[in-house]
Amino acid sequence: MPTYPTQCLVLSRRDIGENDRCVTVLTPEFGKRNFVMRGARRSGSKLSGATEPFTRLKVLIATGKSLDVVTQCEITAVYSGLRTSVADLAAACYLCEVVDALLHEHDDQSAAAVFNLMCHAFNLMQQPALWPDAVINATLLRLVTELGYGPRYDQCSCCDEPLDNGPAAFSASNGGAVCRVCASGIKDAIALSAEAVSLIALLASAGARTLTTICPPEKQAALATSAIHAYVQFHAGRIIKSAEFLHAVRAGRES
Ligand SMILES: [Zn+2]
Repeated sequence: MPTYPTQCLVLSRRDIGENDRCVTVLTPEFGKRNFVMRGARRSGSKLSGATEPFTRLKVLIATGKSLDVVTQCEITAVYSGLRTSVADLAAACYLCEVVDALLHEHDDQSAAAVFNLMCHAFNLMQQPALWPDAVINATLLRLVTELGYGPRYDQCSCCDEPLDNGPAAFSASNGGAVCRVCASGIKDAIALSAEAVSLIALLASAGARTLTTICPPEKQAALATSAIHAYVQFHAGRIIKSAEFLHAVRAGRES
């Protein structure tokens, strides 16, 4: 059976057979893949910890007929800071679910960039931040941009006119900010202030220091978060379930 080495980041796992697990991973060479870990559910299995989501691995893979199988495995990072609170765990699950939804298996375009983006995000999410959603929102924006459908901020994404008087709304189906004239006729337009659109644009390009120290007004932050979520969910083509959980956890913590 031919083998190949790779690094990978575990996005999710599911049980298969009596003792096995299948992990959905992100690799820098091949994009999203599913790997079988034989015996991972047996008590005392060394592979058990390696199937945990947000774990980074160095693996040797044997090419199977339908699914590739992990034959050697070394854990290289566990990002334990992502498990210190329910909110952090929910945030990491949200990012993984979005990546899983947006990427197609065997599509290796942008694989290295997306892999590095997620590893960088997990590192940053372990650091204290004044606005925890900043890193998540920034990562989602960079992810869609890397995949070729980043939102537009400087021109109306519907009529292409410059947004000299400020944008009126944000529309996922149209591709970003929209002007006042167009906004009234767009069903999924989310009304946003120019400040909220500027915040989205800032998140898309800000460095690590800004992302951990930025603290926008609550309303602006909530609007930007809603617009970015609507944008990625539109492109994912399905409901991102962990977003609701994250929202509930954040709401509970703030009350
Ligand atoms: Zn317009």
